[in-house]
Amino acid sequence: MEQASLQFLQDLILAPSPSGYEEPVQEVVRKYTGVFADSVTTSLHGNVIASVNHEVQPSILLAGHCDQIGLQVKHIDSDGYLMINTIGGWDMQMLIGQRLQVWTKNGPILGVLARKAIHLLTPEERAKVADLKDMWIDIGVEDEKAARELVEIGDPVTLELVYHELQGDLITAPGIDDKSGLWIVMEALRRIAAGKSSVGVHAASTVQEEIGLRGVRTAAYSVNPTVGLAVDVTHATDCPTIDKKQHGDVKIGKGPVLFRGPNINPVVFSRLKQIADTNNIPVQIVALGGPAGNDGNAMQLNQAGCAVGIIGVPNRYMHSPVEIASLGDLDHAAELISLFCQEVKSDDDFTP
Ligand SMILES: [Zn+2]
Repeated sequence: MEQASLQFLQDLILAPSPSGYEEPVQEVVRKYTGVFADSVTTSLHGNVIASVNHEVQPSILLAGHCDQIGLQVKHIDSDGYLMINTIGGWDMQMLIGQRLQVWTKNGPILGVLARKAIHLLTPEERAKVADLKDMWIDIGVEDEKAARELVEIGDPVTLELVYHELQGDLITAPGIDDKSGLWIVMEALRRIAAGKSSVGVHAASTVQEEIGLRGVRTAAYSVNPTVGLAVDVTHATDCPTIDKKQHGDVKIGKGPVLFRGPNINPVVFSRLKQIADTNNIPVQIVALGGPAGNDGNAMQLNQAGCAVGIIGVPNRYMHSPVEIASLGDLDHAAELISLFCQEVKSDDDFTP
């Protein structure tokens, strides 16, 4: 992976983006894509769309969501502790004991997510899953007044945003869901811009996926693409306690996942698979019997319909502070999408 591309990935991961609070990460996307895209626009909804051949039809929409799950300050109590709402789907057990960043108008301040110590929990409390109402953020202030000088109701909160390398090409960070997919669509667009495409290609950094696939709806409506590729994380099943018979066989580092099933256009699937085979790009096939829980779902139902492909990035520990992905999988996904888009001709028929 080129150094500038790797730096872009790190910049995405270190930019906060709880759903509805995506402006900082969108600024990173605009700055990076502005160099090679022939158009970069931001919609009223907050989606950023970077395009190559932006006035050419037919067109392809690439979608990676930029939002991440987060928290929000709901209430400040008389002792200066912050009570919170969740934004998106959290496993609360994953949050206890984490360092957090509260994104205030004057920048981030550190806090910790706490509950009372194990010694003070009753036997009943110990036996049950921790409840949001029994947790708080401690930012280390004396009282409510001191807290209010720093924090406002509605301020977004993320896990402490960090990027770390593990062994081999594995990385760990919060928000790999879906900064990895966002990176892939923008990196694919960069490669397409450096190559040759005869159709319009629009890479969307979509907002608010984690709260109901919202951004992609307005993005797809505005572009009205013939083909749409959604890129999001998917569960790697190569760790203890996950049943492959139930969840399929997905290994991290063995290539991006191509989904197959009713949410996926069969012509798009076949072309992606064939391009992967021809170019020695490793891919893993996963069967999906219903609608996807990602942008590919809403994209397929856009206007009169869209020929959708869904590409998954194998991800361990999704929606946790320690999500893991492989840089090789990211790079292979970007290459596959870049080649796919460059091979599409204006009269290609994707009718099943
Ligand atoms: Zn996602």
